[in-house]
Amino acid sequence: MARKYEGRAVGIDLGTTYSCVAVWQEQHSRVEIIHNDQGNRTTPSFVAFSDDQRLIGDAAKNQTSANPENTVFDIMLWPFKVVAGVNDKPMITLKYKDQEKQFCAEEISSMVLTKMREVAEAYLQSPVKNAVVTVPAYFNDAQRKATIDAGAIAGINVIRIINEPTAAAIAYGLDKRSDFDGKRNIFVFDLGGGTFDVSILTINGDVFEVKATAGNTHLGGEDFDNRMVNYFVEEFKKKNKVDISGNARALRRLRTACEKAKRILSFAFVTTVDVDSLFNGIDFSSSISRAKFEEINMDLFNECMEIVASCLSDSKVYKSDIDDVVLVGGSSRIPKVQDLLQDFFKGKDLCKSINLDEAVAYGAAVQAAILSEGFKNVPNLVLRDVTALSLGIEANVECILDVVIPRNTSVPVKKTKRYSTAKDNHCSVPIKVYEGERARAADNNLLGSFFLSCLPGAPRGQPLDVCFSIDENGILTVSAKEISTGNMNEITITNDKERLSTFEIKKMIEEAETYHLEDQKFLRKAEVISGLDSCVYNIKNALQKKDVYSMLTYQESEKINNAITVAMNLLDKNNQQKEIDVLEGHLKQLNSMLENLKVKTG
Ligand code: ADP
Ligand code: MG
Repeated sequence: MARKYEGRAVGIDLGTTYSCVAVWQEQHSRVEIIHNDQGNRTTPSFVAFSDDQRLIGDAAKNQTSANPENTVFDIMLWPFKVVAGVNDKPMITLKYKDQEKQFCAEEISSMVLTKMREVAEAYLQSPVKNAVVTVPAYFNDAQRKATIDAGAIAGINVIRIINEPTAAAIAYGLDKRSDFDGKRNIFVFDLGGGTFDVSILTINGDVFEVKATAGNTHLGGEDFDNRMVNYFVEEFKKKNKVDISGNARALRRLRTACEKAKRILSFAFVTTVDVDSLFNGIDFSSSISRAKFEEINMDLFNECMEIVASCLSDSKVYKSDIDDVVLVGGSSRIPKVQDLLQDFFKGKDLCKSINLDEAVAYGAAVQAAILSEGFKNVPNLVLRDVTALSLGIEANVECILDVVIPRNTSVPVKKTKRYSTAKDNHCSVPIKVYEGERARAADNNLLGSFFLSCLPGAPRGQPLDVCFSIDENGILTVSAKEISTGNMNEITITNDKERLSTFEIKKMIEEAETYHLEDQKFLRKAEVISGLDSCVYNIKNALQKKDVYSMLTYQESEKINNAITVAMNLLDKNNQQKEIDVLEGHLKQLNSMLENLKVKTG
């Protein structure tokens, strides 16, 4: 029996465009999707910095057009290309309180995770420490590790990483399995905002077993938006003889309008796109048909179908043996995508019974309940997932990738392969670990490398064992051992160079705490200002009452009028001297005056 985690763990779908948090509800034996402070069940994965505050979620998304340079969205834990010699992580530069600050992707993701944690804590009314976080199935080793690090910065212990389509299959299967009769093959099609994933699973009683997975971590709804943006930029150029492609604000506003139009085209056949004063005071007004939208995106839709075909062939399940095709992700609402998928499966009906936007968080919450102690009535379920990418080492002489663990192998897995030294008198053998599907090692993603020292003076052909081990989260450890005349060496890859160090994570946790305090301070100040504003309003109203001044002494009315003048000064937007203590002190004073006034005037 696996170890159980203390407390009630939640499930978090950390999406590229929307995130969602859910928790197992033992009373009702089902999952509750938790709504955020705006009452929404999904939260935009947006982070923004303005002159005086940090915003996360809906508030950040809503101010994007006005502040595009300081708004981060589509933040993916990119596989930070690890090319030999390039150690620098990509950093995002943003302006906060008039200062340039640099953030790495993990930090931005951690802010979204923090928001989701707070949403859950407000609902559960208790601290949330543990979470199951979902990632696109096609995420690589570095992206998975980065997700765990992002959790740590957000104060969340990521107890398990599960793949998004697998989580969606749990949501689907849990609901339907009582109707299943024996084994059932499920095809999950998850087309989101920035990523595309497909998985084939077999559900057999309590066992959910992934057979194959495939995808593209850079393909999704935002690409469709971009195509439409480019289309209209060209149109604008033709009409107005100006190129707006270098103007971030204009592009951002156009993109927002295009995203809206795209959604409308999922149920209408034509729609308009209007942006007032798009560039140099020129209004933009145009329209686009569903057919045009499909035409400009057809190659991307076809790419999705190629991935579908490749996943199916990897799984060795026949097309005709797929029982259910399940749709997940906002972009799978696009009619053309559904048509192509349905054609691929020879006219089979697509399952739309689960909620496209919530299924992933739903499945994550089920897995969280299984792994933590705090729940009753937890469903029985065993999950078996697979690796998305092949893993191997560079074979010495030929520089080809020698695969140790082929893609779509069940995890957890441990595999040892025997190699031998290639030269006489080797002092050390380089072991370079790669992930990917290309034949030449260098064409794949280098995960890390190390040297294994050998017995001095030995001839070539000395045996050495390389062991690859992948845990439940899909995270890899590699060790190597030289077996010559009883001597052994063993090295394990622990920290990839693009991964954050413990020290860096600690520093970011401290920074996150600072931001949190500043956010709270900002909110408190906003609250006091609004309190002050309404108090002034109420006092003024009270003073309007008939004969009020006759009930007050001259000193009393002087004092009240002075206090109102001071408050109005404090509320003045141009007045920079707004220390929260000063504001609070004045609010207290005004409130007691208001109370007195009420007592005196009845
Ligand atoms: P992710 O998991 O990557 O965050 P989601 O599954 O939440 O993404 O899907 C978000 C994407 O779905 C966005 O690109 C959004 O524009 C797109 N989308 C949402 N509704 C529709 C719709 N009705 N038609 C087309 N695309 C849609
Ligand atoms: Mg998603």
